Amino acid sequence: MHEMSIAAAVVEQVDAAAREHGAPGVTRVRLQVGELAGVVPQALDFCFELACAGTLVEGAVLETEQVAARARCGSCATEWEVGMPPDLGCPSCSGGSSGGVLGVGVPGGGVSGGGVELLSGRELQILDVEWAGHPHRPAEQKG
Ligand SMILES: [Zn+2]
Repeated sequence: MHEMSIAAAVVEQVDAAAREHGAPGVTRVRLQVGELAGVVPQALDFCFELACAGTLVEGAVLETEQVAARARCGSCATEWEVGMPPDLGCPSCSGGSSGGVLGVGVPGGGVSGGGVELLSGRELQILDVEWAGHPHRPAEQKG
């Protein structure tokens, strides 16, 4: 199960970070999930609860922030929301639609031989963690 391994990895990271900070526990974990990451939020939520049992993360609320998938055409620089299922053909010049689906399945959205670049949608990262006890938040990132 895809979500289980993701949840386990997230819990492991947050648990390690909590120990590093000397935090007694974790109240909230914010996770950025791209539209194309192939993650079902409800399933991830369920797996997260299972994965955090017995760790410092136990009892924390998992908040997932979904990121819309966007692509850009290399030929005419048009940007568009890819949507689900992903539509990687340029709406302006129809460029990049040849050669099948590009970028999807490649970590980092790498594209080879195509004119379409995947700008976002494959994110899967921890945005923010709220420690129990003393509230400490890493610097907010905008964008
Ligand atoms: Zn185009």
